[in-house]
Amino acid sequence: DIILKARKLTKFYQMGEVRVEALKGVDFDIYAGEFVVVLGPSGSGKSTMLNLIGGMDTASSGEIYFKDRPLHGAPEKVLTEYRRNAVGFVFQFYNLMPNLTAYENVMLSVEIAKNPLKAEDVLEQVGLADRTDRFPAQMSGGEQQRVAIARAVAKNPEILLCDEPTGALDSSTGIQVLKVLRDFNRRYKKTVIIITHNAAIAQMADRVFYLRDGRVNRIEKVANPVAPE
Ligand code: ADP
Ligand code: ADP
Repeated sequence: DIILKARKLTKFYQMGEVRVEALKGVDFDIYAGEFVVVLGPSGSGKSTMLNLIGGMDTASSGEIYFKDRPLHGAPEKVLTEYRRNAVGFVFQFYNLMPNLTAYENVMLSVEIAKNPLKAEDVLEQVGLADRTDRFPAQMSGGEQQRVAIARAVAKNPEILLCDEPTGALDSSTGIQVLKVLRDFNRRYKKTVIIITHNAAIAQMADRVFYLRDGRVNRIEKVANPVAPE
């Protein structure tokens, strides 16, 4: 089943006289349960694509659907509902609440979700059963990112949308975090989309979308996705 579909998707930014074409007509289908990496250099349109997929911004033209529901031209109310229930967000810098424990950070998303998972279960699955009462400042970067993943997963979203999730981590810690994302993908059969400039992440995806200068110029199927060593 197709969970996200884009057709001739464009995004322009008008800066005075200058029009920047950040996305120049992007087409893709993403299937439910897929692990997709969107790979592109700085300025290729990654953040713009993330914002359209995540319902944080609207397209200039073209179409984008979540399970046949149009996000293009959708009212803010629909987009808010989509962000709140359908998408879990993981960011480069974790975005945890510093004055709340790991458990309380996860409960923040459990409390607003329609059909949440149990915070304790998800914290255990990311390997933090013994860290639930720690505050972010008492945890390593990798642990903080695993709390952030637990928070995103706990609301039981259909899509986990990750923006440079290993960008602030050293490579071995980054690999642990990627394994947690892959485990989530395989365990719950939920769609994971990682947006990154880091080509090493591509080998664990089912498919890789290569973004260049506002276009998806190649889509590659990975024969045997493996977590990096
Ligand atoms: P990436 O995330 O791959 O670095 P972006 O989506 O941020 O790419 O940017 C794509 C292009 O759009 C770049 O040329 C960037 O300068 C431009 N751009 C991004 N956001 C804005 C904005 N809010 N206003 C004007 N130009 C923008
Ligand atoms: P609320 O109305 O509860 O503040 P929002 O509609 O602003 O919720 O956001 C819903 C969800 O979407 C939040 O859980 C948040 O993580 C995510 N979100 C909102 N805005 C952004 C953004 N600009 N970038 C990334 N994620 C966002």
